[in-house]
Amino acid sequence: MNSDDVWIDDCDSLREMANRIEENIAWNVGDGNQVRFWKDIWVHGQGRLIDNVLIPPPENIVDMPVNFFSTLSGGWDWSKIDPYVSRDVHSSIEASTPPVQGRNDCVRWRRMHDGNFSIRSAYECLSAGNGATRSTFWSRIWKWPVHERIRSFIWLLAHGKILTNSHRLHRNLTNNASCPRCGREEETVLHAIRDCNVIEWNSKIHAGNDLSENWQSTFGVTCWYVWKNRNLLVFENHTPNMQDLFFQILYMVVIECDSEVALELVENGTTENHPCSGLVHQIRSLVDRNWDINLVHAFREANQTADLMAKMSHTLSEGLHVFCYPHKDLGYILTADLYGPLVPRVCVC
Ligand SMILES: [Zn+2]
Repeated sequence: MNSDDVWIDDCDSLREMANRIEENIAWNVGDGNQVRFWKDIWVHGQGRLIDNVLIPPPENIVDMPVNFFSTLSGGWDWSKIDPYVSRDVHSSIEASTPPVQGRNDCVRWRRMHDGNFSIRSAYECLSAGNGATRSTFWSRIWKWPVHERIRSFIWLLAHGKILTNSHRLHRNLTNNASCPRCGREEETVLHAIRDCNVIEWNSKIHAGNDLSENWQSTFGVTCWYVWKNRNLLVFENHTPNMQDLFFQILYMVVIECDSEVALELVENGTTENHPCSGLVHQIRSLVDRNWDINLVHAFREANQTADLMAKMSHTLSEGLHVFCYPHKDLGYILTADLYGPLVPRVCVC
């Protein structure tokens, strides 16, 4: 899928790691045959001399080993060095022992006082470049309180590695970078997960409000579901109901009903010739959508408000009625509910 990216990133990372390791390797000059005078690190207190020259040395000497710059009598050949270096660098070279025949050059690990390599210091050196913030960020992702599958997805998301159409266009896998849901904008990672108008609620619910008690889990689960639903559309031509998705993630719907018979009909269905089969079928198709719905039985005395409003519906005109304030007829029920008197229930045996 996005193995190209992973591969390129891996190569970049390896290159970066190799550079960082190289920066921490210095040479102890022996006979000076292996050590490059300008391009290796061998002068105490200096990095690579090539990075600190007054004028670049000519090509015919830039790759020469250290022993090229020494004299037969065992000193430094300043005529080959001084035209290119400052007084400070000259002094540093002067303080370094010139090559000696019969001794091998050897590598020194700069991060340890004794020059010996240690895995621990190498690890510290490699970790340092990532910065504390970045490493804290990744470790937080791996501690995210969600299923491992979602955690892996968040990790890919944080790396910008989910295969959006914008990404696919970049890899020549498609010639259309637009969003498969709205079709209006380029499908970048942020568009796919946050900005598409089809899922605009996703940015709203995470914009600092407290709709969810457990923000971290909700955020992870939401992003994962949003991407999963996008893939259902792209790969299986299935158009999920985004409103269902909203409820599925954020709410568990509890439907209380005081009729056990009605509940049984909804839960088990009816035969085709049942007088309520049409209505029951409609209710069941709503319940079967991708929500988390719990049907429970409640005694009528425990839910008098709903009961009274259901009765009121007989006298209201057809259509949707929204009450911004409790209806006046509900006053005594709500007051009673506030003071919590016991409601007797007559049981006939
Ligand atoms: Zn879109």
